[in-house]
Amino acid sequence: SKFVFVTGGVMSGLGKGITAASLGRLLTNAGFDVTAVKVDPYLNVDAGTMSPYQHGEVYVLKDGGEVDLDLGNYERFLESDMTSDHNVTTGKVYQEVIERERAGDYLGNTVQVIPHVTDDIKRRIREAAEGTDVCIVEIGGTVGDIEGMPYLEALRQFSHEEDDEDILFTHVTLVPYSKNGEQKTKPTQHSVKELRSIGLQPDILVGRNPDPLEDSVKEKIALFCDVPTDAVFSNPDVEDIYHVPLVLEEEGLDEHVIERFDLDDEALPREER
Ligand code: ADP
Repeated sequence: SKFVFVTGGVMSGLGKGITAASLGRLLTNAGFDVTAVKVDPYLNVDAGTMSPYQHGEVYVLKDGGEVDLDLGNYERFLESDMTSDHNVTTGKVYQEVIERERAGDYLGNTVQVIPHVTDDIKRRIREAAEGTDVCIVEIGGTVGDIEGMPYLEALRQFSHEEDDEDILFTHVTLVPYSKNGEQKTKPTQHSVKELRSIGLQPDILVGRNPDPLEDSVKEKIALFCDVPTDAVFSNPDVEDIYHVPLVLEEEGLDEHVIERFDLDDEALPREER
């Protein structure tokens, strides 16, 4: 499998999940078998015990798994059924690690976040991706959250364990308007700086603004965040979230990802998608 890791910066509720699901849709349209994993860094084992007032809908999967509502987006956008294995939570990871510790599986070693928790995170991602062409992994929360650290560390390790052309880091950030109507890149720069301090360099940046990003803004983001200009994409506000895949297709995100993954030969020609 190829892996697209999607992280978010600046603030939550940006549209990271919709961006990830939309990319999944476009890759599905291009003829690939795509799956998704949602990582939720909370300590609940699943969303079943969380108040809908705090959390929004609890989404129920075919296997009875009560999961984060983002899985609903993935099922609808990818038109594929998922299982609870596609929602990784800190509660699930720790439960497994502690059960294994009690069973003596760690053979007397000190059980630690690195490597035992990070190993379990990587195992879950790989197992969920098994048999597919592309697995999109969305990390809940924003970069820099304490809860998210073990996951980002796991991704850092993951990137060394897989071939470079099999992994893409996509970072979704806010590009706000200033009072005088300029699209400001500083929050994005800070967010990428934070990501890099953890050892992750994004390959692709997606900027959320009410409008498409101006070319000069894309160039500035590229320069300061050390990505090519053609790896900076706009994700403007749209009336209907089901239009987001069309916007990202227009921006060329799918083509970019297919090219970076060296999948050009296997993708359906554009007119057949
Ligand atoms: P995150 O994963 O960053 O928390 P979500 O993907 O769940 O964010 O999206 C947060 C909210 O923003 C949702 O209500 C979603 O429908 C809306 N949204 C996401 N992308 C767009 C967009 N391009 N235009 C308009 N609304 C959007």
